[in-house]
Amino acid sequence: MRITTLSGGVGGARFIRGLRRHLDRLPGGPGDHEVTVIGNTGDDITLWGLRVCPDLDTLLYTLGGGIHEGQGWGRAEESHRIQAELAAYGAKPQWFGLGDLDLATHIVRSQWLGQGLTLSEVTARLASRWGLPDQGLTLLPMSDDPVETHVVVDDPEADGGQRAIHFQEWWVRMQASVPASRFVAVGMDRATAAPGVLEAIRTADVVILPPSNPVVSLGIILGVPGVRDALRGTAAPVVGVSPLVGGAPVRGHADACLSAIGVEATAGAVGDLFADFLDGWLVDPGDAPPGSAAGSSRTPGGLRLTAWDRPLLMPDVASATELAGAAYDLALSLRPT
Ligand code: GDP
Ligand code: CA
Repeated sequence: MRITTLSGGVGGARFIRGLRRHLDRLPGGPGDHEVTVIGNTGDDITLWGLRVCPDLDTLLYTLGGGIHEGQGWGRAEESHRIQAELAAYGAKPQWFGLGDLDLATHIVRSQWLGQGLTLSEVTARLASRWGLPDQGLTLLPMSDDPVETHVVVDDPEADGGQRAIHFQEWWVRMQASVPASRFVAVGMDRATAAPGVLEAIRTADVVILPPSNPVVSLGIILGVPGVRDALRGTAAPVVGVSPLVGGAPVRGHADACLSAIGVEATAGAVGDLFADFLDGWLVDPGDAPPGSAAGSSRTPGGLRLTAWDRPLLMPDVASATELAGAAYDLALSLRPT
């Protein structure tokens, strides 16, 4: 079975680790299931001359066993000596924390990119070091072309009363506290899908959207030319897991992203963003209409909505494994016979 997923950082990575664990336990064993992950690169940023790919790195570290579990991103047992030294020089920005071990990833990535390798090739090399191929995991960046999500915010002092800032400045430095009026994927007009991305969707047996940020993770990947069409056209069942529980994101500021695009922060409204290609949408029992907990009902957009019988949360690997198993089973139940 070939399973293809789209992913942002923490929510996606935790879910996909659970998915891998679930598939490994099925009869037939690990070799029977190949998982391809298409990672968001809209969060990418160049800092101190180094190319940083936060979502790809969160995936590498989580799937490769090097993640800082409590934080959800960055390396376990990290130190920050280089950042302290940069601060002593007054080097900016200081609001984006990069640990010493993590910096090694960015250094080697930047070196390889500088030698002319594509981001796909670089990501494959990094993934080998983290043992992803041995686990039946392929990590693809959504595109080899640089795409950066920028956020348009009000600024009375700027020309026209607005200015665009890098997504990371809005998310990390401002903690999304300034209302976003819109998101712009800079570079998307010249971007193409990375090698293997469209094929992985078209030829999959199952496609799963993990509970990643619907706007700045999944929404950006869906903007890559051909991706949305491939999802609409694939013969595989496409199912997703809601990142919202009880009308709020489980972590992060997805609600601030949704309000920028005028979408209500509810599990149903988020599912409807993908109604043109989704076959099933897994939600928390509390987010399903009364009486639908055991079966399925539909959202206003016509999406088939399925309530899980447990809270849609991944506090640990065991619960992520169960949640991913439920999403996978939902997909199998929707396969054409
Ligand atoms: P990021 O790039 O690090 O922000 O990570 P993603 O885009 O992959 O995922 C962020 C989303 O994951 C947020 O909107 C969260 O609400 C969602 N999320 C995180 N943990 C959980 C969880 O335990 N359950 C569910 N359902 N969603 C979660
Ligand atoms: Ca991200």
